[in-house]
Amino acid sequence: MSEASIFTKIIRREIPAEILFEDDLCIAIRDIQPKAPTHVLLIPKQEIPRLVDADPEHQSLLGHLLLVAGKVATQLGIGEAFRLIINNGEGAGQTVFHLHMHIMGNKKYTEDSLDF
Ligand code: 5GP
Repeated sequence: MSEASIFTKIIRREIPAEILFEDDLCIAIRDIQPKAPTHVLLIPKQEIPRLVDADPEHQSLLGHLLLVAGKVATQLGIGEAFRLIINNGEGAGQTVFHLHMHIMGNKKYTEDSLDF
């Protein structure tokens, strides 16, 4: 068995994190190195390394994550303007190979920029 990801360790409370939301399927934590004034990670409890590793069996989990992302963003007061980002693969900047969404807001984003 490969070692548990850093996010699984957070989910198991082996590593501390600021937890903003949790249910049976996922957890939302504050990013340790925020790239926006509000930067939250939404992480499924099931370890799927990358988005491309998801299968049809994960369909309802992926849908759940999107719904929770909207709810968490609203709860954080950024429901009117936030970005939801998934980095897939090293070349796209993925550093933790446990699927997660970045919920980012309270930053001025423009329509022609896809930067963090
Ligand atoms: P990625 O680059 O894989 O899309 O995103 C990984 C994110 O996880 C980064 O934004 C990084 O700051 C965050 N991160 C890495 N390790 C930890 C940690 O131990 N705790 C928290 N809260 N965030 C982490």
